This record gives sequence, C-alpha cells and structure tokens, in this order.
Amino acid sequence: MGHRFIVVGRGPMGAAAARHLAAAGEEVVVVGPEEPENWSQHDGVFASHYDEGRQFELASSEKILVRLAKDSVRGFQEVEKATGIPFFRRHPNLRVGPAGFSDDHYYNWEGIDAVGRELSVETVHLGDQGLSETFPQFCFESGSRGLVEPNGGVINPRRLVKAQLCAAQANGGTVISDEVVALNRRRGDIEVVLKNGKAISANQVLIATGAFTNAAKLIKRRLAMYLYGVTAVLVEVRGESRPNIPTVTCRFGSEPRSPVCFAMPPLQYPDGRWYIKAATASSVDCPIAQDSDIAPWFRGQGVAEDPKLVVGMLRKLLPRFEPGNAHALPCMVSYTSTGNPYIERIDDRVGVAVGGNAWGVMTSDEIGRMAAQMIRDMPWSGPLSAELFKARFA
Ligand SMILES: Cc1cc2nc3c(=O)[nH]c(=O)nc-3n(C[C@H](O)[C@H](O)[C@H](O)COP(=O)(O)OP(=O)(O)OC[C@H]3O[C@@H](n4cnc5c(N)ncnc54)[C@H](O)[C@@H]3O)c2cc1C
Repeated sequence: MGHRFIVVGRGPMGAAAARHLAAAGEEVVVVGPEEPENWSQHDGVFASHYDEGRQFELASSEKILVRLAKDSVRGFQEVEKATGIPFFRRHPNLRVGPAGFSDDHYYNWEGIDAVGRELSVETVHLGDQGLSETFPQFCFESGSRGLVEPNGGVINPRRLVKAQLCAAQANGGTVISDEVVALNRRRGDIEVVLKNGKAISANQVLIATGAFTNAAKLIKRRLAMYLYGVTAVLVEVRGESRPNIPTVTCRFGSEPRSPVCFAMPPLQYPDGRWYIKAATASSVDCPIAQDSDIAPWFRGQGVAEDPKLVVGMLRKLLPRFEPGNAHALPCMVSYTSTGNPYIERIDDRVGVAVGGNAWGVMTSDEIGRMAAQMIRDMPWSGPLSAELFKARFA
C-alpha cells in the first residue's frame, strides 16, 4: 500500500516537516540515512547538521530570517516539552568589529537596529569601555564596536533532529534509515527507490535533502543552489575551568578581506571532550563547483591552514585560554539565489524544502511548518508570503 507522504531527507528541515505533517494527522514516512560512523570511508550522502552547536541569532538586518527564527522558537519549545529531549537554550551572542566599519549585512548596524525595533529583538551596543567591562575575558582591539544580543541561543542540531523525529513518530510517523536513489513518476503515485534496492510509494513527496539536492537528481531540473565548503575547527578545552563566553564573531580590520573569527561557547562532543567550535571566513573561498566534489569535501579535512589560524585568533581574543588540540570538522552551506529557502511544489507530486543559507537550523521549525502546509495543498499561512519562498532553477 502506498503512503500518503514521504519526506526525503532527515535533516532539520525534513524532520520538522515530518513532525508538522504527523501532527496534522497525516500519514508520513521520512527516509534518510543515519550519520556515518566513519566519515572518511563513507560512500553515501552527508548532512550539514552533524554537529553539537548551531547559533540562534536574531540580531540581523534580514527581516525574513528574524521572523522565521522567532516563529521557530515556539515549535522548538513544543518539541522539547513533548519529547523530553532538550536541544535549545538561551545564550548571548556578541558581534565585534572596528568602530567605523559597516557593511550590507552582518555589520549593517542601522539595518539591524531597524529590524530589531520592528520585531522586538533586544540588542545592546558597546564601545571599547563597555566591551572590556562586560567581557573582561576577551581582548578586543582598541577602537572596536560591539553588539550584544542577550537572548540569543545555542541549538544542538543533532538532538533537534532526533527530537523532531521522535515527535513525528509519536504521532504515527515512520522513519526509514536509507538513501533515496530515484523517484519514478507513475500514474496515480510516485515510486521512491531506496539504496537497499527496495521501493516504496507515495501520493506526495517532499524533498529536503540539503546540499545533496541537485546531486541526488531526484528532481528533473537543477535548482539554483550554491554550495560552499566550511571548515569548522574544534579546539579542545582541557581541564574543569571552561571559558564562559558568548557566541562571538569578531572582525579584525575594515578591509574587504580582513580576518574574521567565529567561536561558540565550549560544547561537549560525542567523544566526551569539550571543544570551542570556531571558524574563519575561509568558506567564501571554497565554492563547491561540481556535484562530484560534495562528498569528498565531507570526507576530507577542509582547509588545511584553518585549525592553526583559528587557534591563533582564539589566543589573541581570549588571552587567558590555553587552547588544546584543534581539528577540522568539514561542513557545507547551501545558498539559494533569493537568499530564502525554496519551499514550493514543483509538480503535482513533488515539493521541495531546501536551501538553509547558513541559518537553516534556527529557522527549521517554521520552514518545516510551511513545507508541510504546502505539500498538503493547504492555504499558505503565516506572516511571510509564499512568493518569498519560490524555487529558482539553474
Ligand atoms: C559550519 C556550519 C555552521 C553553521 N552554523 C549555523 C548556525 O549557527 N545557525 C543555523 O541556523 N544554521 C547554521 N548552519 C546551517 C545549517 O546547518 C543548515 O542550514 C542546515 O543543516 C540545513 O538543514 P537541511 O535539513 O536543509 O539540510 P541537512 O542538515 O544537510 O539535512 C539534509 C538531510 O538529507 C539527507 N539526504 C541527502 N540526500 C539524501 C537522499 N538521496 N536520500 C535520503 N536522504 C538524503 C542527508 O542525509 C541529511 O540528513 C551552519 C552550517 C555549517 C556548515
């Protein structure tokens, strides 16, 4: 017997969509592989959420992002309560740059304030003195400007996905651990072929396959998606006294390619150790041009120089912190040509929910809600119009 809905991809977006479908009383199956145990030997697909920390950040000049993230909080809290799996906590964010520097996006101070006023995002601006008084553990260059977001947050994306899937299963959803290798349109339904050779069928399919969306060739036309390899660096925090820091982004200089350091508070990883997850801006130099380059990026070690660079930046920023060993954690971000995720039905049986644009975890619950409504052919609802999420093809 065929299923009503199959969601392909069990990342933050697919898992959220599955939960919303199941909560609406729909029969849903989610298909996606487990995280590989040995990344360097894995010959299947990977995901962009295989990590312990993602930032929740509302201080932004991008109104759509702020609305999606704010609306996701309600869903996150509901899921935590229903499943007993905690994955979201409030934690401050701090952004620092040279006082005279601004740009169109991350350091668009006026734009951030305007959106913050309209959507009630609390932020505090600090100069040199305020920065050193509030964050004495840091050493910022003199002539810096800082923006604190006291009600930011940290999300554990692995646990978020686990919780969303548990919530979907509690409402009758089913999870199949496998990859989808083909979709065959047939009269009356659609056949979903799994890597294990079996096939299942559905009335409707939602594709939420992240960076692998075009490479998987499950849809007939390529979507306009632009992939970048990111080298996250895990810097070990030894001993009991772990630096108490906000999630910080610091830009050292006003030149277009000035170095940038991003660092999260110490988080415990599956090996039991604590790490500061940090990164430079090297992802802008690592476009993934070919489908065949995606999996090798995940199997590799990212940009070889980044661990050393990141450790050097952390030493400068946190002079009392003695970094332990550092190693790379390769990841990938998928940008769309509109800057918004694509959430749209692309034919009478298939819809997509893809394109995290580097903020696909903190916005995932609302994206999943909209995707579930869309694939159920329900009227579009919420403060953001469907037009904003239309797919663009390459
Ligand atoms: C280093 C780094 C830092 C980031 N920081 C943040 C942050 O601070 N805040 C934030 O909100 N976002 C952040 N992001 C972005 C965020 O992680 C992504 O936007 C998010 O993971 C996208 O979710 P997704 O469900 O679209 O894709 P994914 O997480 O990639 O999930 C897609 C799923 O589809 C599955 N899949 C793929 N192909 C198939 C197939 N053929 N069959 C079945 N399943 C398939 C995969 O296995 C995977 O489970 C960051 C990303 C990176 C790389």
